[in-house]
This record gives sequence, structure tokens and C-alpha cells, in this order.
Amino acid sequence: MKQSVAILGATGSIGQSTLKILADHPDKYHLYAISGFHRIAELVDICLQFQPEVVALPQGYVGLFKDIAAQKGLKQLPELLLDEAGLVAIASASEVDVVMAAIVGAAGLSSTLAAVKAGKRVLLANKEALVMAGEIMLAEAEKSGALVLPVDSEHNAIFQCLPQQYFSHRQHNKQPQLGVSRLLLTASGGPFLNFSLAQMQQVTPAQACKHPNWSMGQKISVDSATLMNKGLELIEACHLFAISEHFVTVVIHPQSIIHSMVQYIDGSTLAQMGNPDMCTPIAHALAWPERISTQVKMLDLFDVQKLDFCPPDLEKFPALKLARQSMREGGTAPSILNAANEIAVAAFLQEKIGFLDIANLVDAVLQQSQFESADDLNVVLAADQCARDNAAHWIRQYGVQA
Ligand code: NDP
Ligand code: MG
Repeated sequence: MKQSVAILGATGSIGQSTLKILADHPDKYHLYAISGFHRIAELVDICLQFQPEVVALPQGYVGLFKDIAAQKGLKQLPELLLDEAGLVAIASASEVDVVMAAIVGAAGLSSTLAAVKAGKRVLLANKEALVMAGEIMLAEAEKSGALVLPVDSEHNAIFQCLPQQYFSHRQHNKQPQLGVSRLLLTASGGPFLNFSLAQMQQVTPAQACKHPNWSMGQKISVDSATLMNKGLELIEACHLFAISEHFVTVVIHPQSIIHSMVQYIDGSTLAQMGNPDMCTPIAHALAWPERISTQVKMLDLFDVQKLDFCPPDLEKFPALKLARQSMREGGTAPSILNAANEIAVAAFLQEKIGFLDIANLVDAVLQQSQFESADDLNVVLAADQCARDNAAHWIRQYGVQA
């Protein structure tokens, strides 16, 4: 029996890597539904190659989609579902077994949550959804029986290094279980690892989007450059592995060969390694507990020769410190951090604020916020909106006006 797959965010970097794997395994997977947001020509191209039954897109792009589909000779138009309701509908459709949650940012929250509530196998790339609503999402997964499998390379690595029973009895005391003592979350350090603060003050969006090892969407590339990505991943790890931030150490490892590690009380440290290509964690999450082939080049350790490690510099990369503080604070603090960061990154990409302003803005918004418990989605969404308003206000006050 083929597995029926929906890709939320099919036009993005993770979406494209997922499509590569589906193309390699037509005997195992059928692409049932996809979504896109503004890359409509790419959305039509996916339809030409895979003929999905359903496409979700913004209402305003339906005309453009039909025009491009006609130009490119798409014979059978898929069913078109619109806006957020369309995303939620494909995430929870009874025809779907597997949902790849690869929309970027808070925009992916409602559809990711819908997939979890519908009890799907959820391949989780959209880390922001978990940062905002981790407690809600994992409680819903317990109720529905959804299998939430991490696609983020670090979390996928940790998942591979943990004992399998780790997930069958989820503990709520936030202590490491089953002989695990610590998680080591690796980080490349991004393009500005060796820059001085003075140099970082001057960096452009183009520089920030050029990651040394990974090819990714713009938002996560900027997050990797500020180390906010590692901060969001720290929070993601605490939720996924039901562990306090106190047991997660961030390790800078510039080669991105070790994707993360798990330490055990007997002195063992297990690492998952591979060339940096998201096809590996995606294929792992798709096929788990089995393995399927990918076209990722096999790791050649004679070629790599050297693996370096150092601690992160929290003075140069305060975003990581802010994320850890937010996780320690708990409740709505992580969703406020995430929302302020989304607005800050967008403003940086539009050259309204400088690179170092991203963390300054997030810090300022956190400082003026009050935190509430995050077990009600409406409270989380209200905190998110309030943080966005405060962030926009900060930019009006301190940013460069276009
Ligand atoms: P991209 O920017 O490449 O893709 C984002 C996808 O989301 C696109 O399909 C885009 O549509 C869609 N999208 C954007 N905004 C909206 C919106 N408001 N409503 C609906 N859809 C929207 O990002 P990535 O693929 O790099 O990242 C996706 C997620 O995966 C992020 O959460 C990221 O943190 C995570 N991730 C990514 C990794 C990577 O290597 N890229 C690694 C680990 C995690 P369109 O392009 O048509 O506008
Ligand atoms: Mg990652």
C-alpha cells in the first residue's frame, strides 16, 4: 500500500527536498496534496510532475494559477482549496497518511496543529509552530495518536541517537530518561561565526542569507546567522524530547557533519553524522522505522578529516541567550520571542533595521511583555499578535523608514 502524502509548503526549500525523495520512490508514496503561497509557477510545475489531487493556495492567486496551468499545458486541474482553511483541510483530509509541515513561521501553526489533531504521521519542519504551541501540540498528539517525527536535522539526529522506547512512555518531569544524561545540539555557527561585532553591524541581507553549509529559505538562513535558529531549536528539543533546557548544550561545530548527539550516564556519546543535506532527515522521518535510499553523497571521513567544536559566544549572538531565557520562563515567552523575531527578520530583509538590531528588538519586546501560561491556543495567538505589534512599533521608532 502506498502512503498518501500532503506537503504544506511544497514550493519551499524543505518542500522541494521532500519532492526529490517522493520522485525517487513512486512505488512507496503518492503525492495527494500540496500548498504554495506566492511561487505559483513552481506550484504548477509540481502539478505537472506529480499530478496531486488537491492544491491549497491564497485566493488572490487562483486566476494566476489557472493562467499558468493553461500556458504550461496542465491537462487536469486539481481541486483548489483556499487560504488557511484550505491548508487545514488538506492537513486533516482522510485521504492523507503523512503530512510534511514545511510552511515557514507562525503561518504554519494552524495547519500543523490540524494534522496533529487528525492523528497523522507529521513530519515536522515548521519549528516555529512547536516553539509557539509545543505544550498544546504534544498534548493533542497524545490524544489523537499522531506520530510527530522531527525533520529538523539536529532533532532528527537526536531522535536517531535516543533509545526507541524513549517515546513510548513520555515523562512529564522534564528529566532525561532511560540512561540519557544530556543532549548536545550542534550548530554550524552560521556565516558570521568569526566576524567581530563591528563587522556584524554592517552585514547585508545577501550576506546573511548565504549559509556556509546548508541551502535554505531566507528566514531560517537569517535565523542561522543570528543563532536564533539554534535558540528556536533549543526550545523545539525541550518540547520534542520532554526535557528541561538545563540538559541541552549547544555546541558550535562549523563543518555540520555531526548533526547532534546524545550523552548517556555510562559515558557514551552517540552522534548521527552525514553530509549536510535535508534529504537525509526527511527520508528518515518518511520511512521510519524503515530506511529508504536517497541521492545524498555518502560521508567520506578521509575527505572531511577534521571535526571542530567550540562553545557559542553569547555576547556576539545574544539571540541564543534570549531563547534559552524564554524557555526557562515558559508559558507564552517562547511565542513572544518567535513573533518578535519573525517581524525583526522581515524588517532586516527589507533593510529597515540592521543585523544586530534583530536581537535588540526581540530583547526589547520580551522585556515589555508579560507572560501567561500557554495551554490555551487563544492566549498563545493573542501573545503572538501583541508581540508583533510591539515589534512593529519598535521598528517605527528605531528603524530606517523607507
Ligand atoms: P522556504 O522559505 O524555502 O519555504 C517556505 C514555504 O512556506 C514555501 O512553500 C512558502 O510558499 C510557504 N509560505 C510562506 N509563507 C506562507 C504563508 N503565510 N502561508 C502559507 N504558506 C506560506 O522555507 P524553508 O523550506 O527553508 O523552511 C520551512 C520550515 O522548515 C521553516 O519553519 C524552517 O525553520 C524549517 N526548516 C528548514 C530547514 C531547511 O534546510 N530549509 C531545515 C530545518 C527546518 P511560497 O514559496 O510559494 O511563497
Ligand atoms: Mg536545524
